[in-house]
Amino acid sequence: MTDSREQSELDVVIVGGGPAGLCAAMYAGRGMLKSILIERGLPGGELLNTEKIEDYPGFVSVLGRDLAEKMTEHAKAFGAEIIQDNVEGIHRQEDGTFRVETSSGNVYRAPTVLLTAGGTPTKLGVPGEAEYAGRGVSYCAVCDGAFFRNEIIAVVGGGDAAVEEAAYLTRYAEKVYLIHRRDSLRASKLLQDRLFADPKIEVIWDTEVTEITGDPGGVKELSLRNTADGSTSTLSVTGVFIFIGFRPNSDLIKEHFDHDAAGYVITDDRMMTSIPGLFAAGDLRVQLTRQITTAVGDATTAAIAVEKYLADRKALSSV
Ligand code: NAP
Repeated sequence: MTDSREQSELDVVIVGGGPAGLCAAMYAGRGMLKSILIERGLPGGELLNTEKIEDYPGFVSVLGRDLAEKMTEHAKAFGAEIIQDNVEGIHRQEDGTFRVETSSGNVYRAPTVLLTAGGTPTKLGVPGEAEYAGRGVSYCAVCDGAFFRNEIIAVVGGGDAAVEEAAYLTRYAEKVYLIHRRDSLRASKLLQDRLFADPKIEVIWDTEVTEITGDPGGVKELSLRNTADGSTSTLSVTGVFIFIGFRPNSDLIKEHFDHDAAGYVITDDRMMTSIPGLFAAGDLRVQLTRQITTAVGDATTAAIAVEKYLADRKALSSV
């Protein structure tokens, strides 16, 4: 049965409107593919949570929202159709096409889907975290570390990410406090040994952040609570990097697909997942690093691979 709100004259449905999705939509348009991009919020993704960007070639410094706007305009200039809706599920049908279902009840059908839905850093959920996001609160050391040259900053978490990123941040910061809620780290022994040997890093054990405060210029202070004895204190810092987990938004895929232990999607070098016709690009893919540049690189490969996949499919069906 065909749903009245079903759209099936499409080549590709792009799910997610961050840098990867917008770049893929631009390439799809240039490749004369019939595509739509579905994004639940405003196009831009994590760019919209980032104040300043200084590591995107061609822009020595650009505001995240300005880059998001430019990428959106660029995609639209090549015909991208951007729909604001929430994708709830991606199902592969017996005929090899995909059914993409949204919260508003729309169904989109296409022979290929490109999943660029990114991931979500786990939030602390304390007062001030959202207010100072991009103004001292960060979830990405490579993106934001350089803004904290010779400053005193904190990292929250005790896993590999927190320990590795604390070490990375010492190249900029004068001092890095690592705040961990227990008395031992979850991170690997090798990373721990490096951390303890680093004179710029001081671990604050058994402690959780209860509030982030500041002024219009950004973060100024953290309120802390000792988890062992309940005592409270404050710590003056100008930045706080939170690494308490990251969840790739890969649970939209309803059939079995290859992924790693943390749920990141495994692809081949054309960005195709273990499900034929389902491609993935950007932060939800297994890879060494997650940057704007890697997201658009993945997306470029994926969009071109989609074109080739469609051509091969057409050739096969006409045999
Ligand atoms: P993770 O290993 O799950 O560690 C999360 C850390 O955050 C834990 O120390 C946890 O504390 C803490 N935490 C969680 N919720 C918290 C909260 N609400 N408040 C305060 N602290 C909280 O996550 P990850 O470090 O992002 O690593 C994810 C995966 O990627 C892991 O498998 C990791 O090995 C891998 N990874 C590997 C590397 C590497 O090998 N170089 C680098 C990065 C990530 P508790 O310990 O008390 O639970």
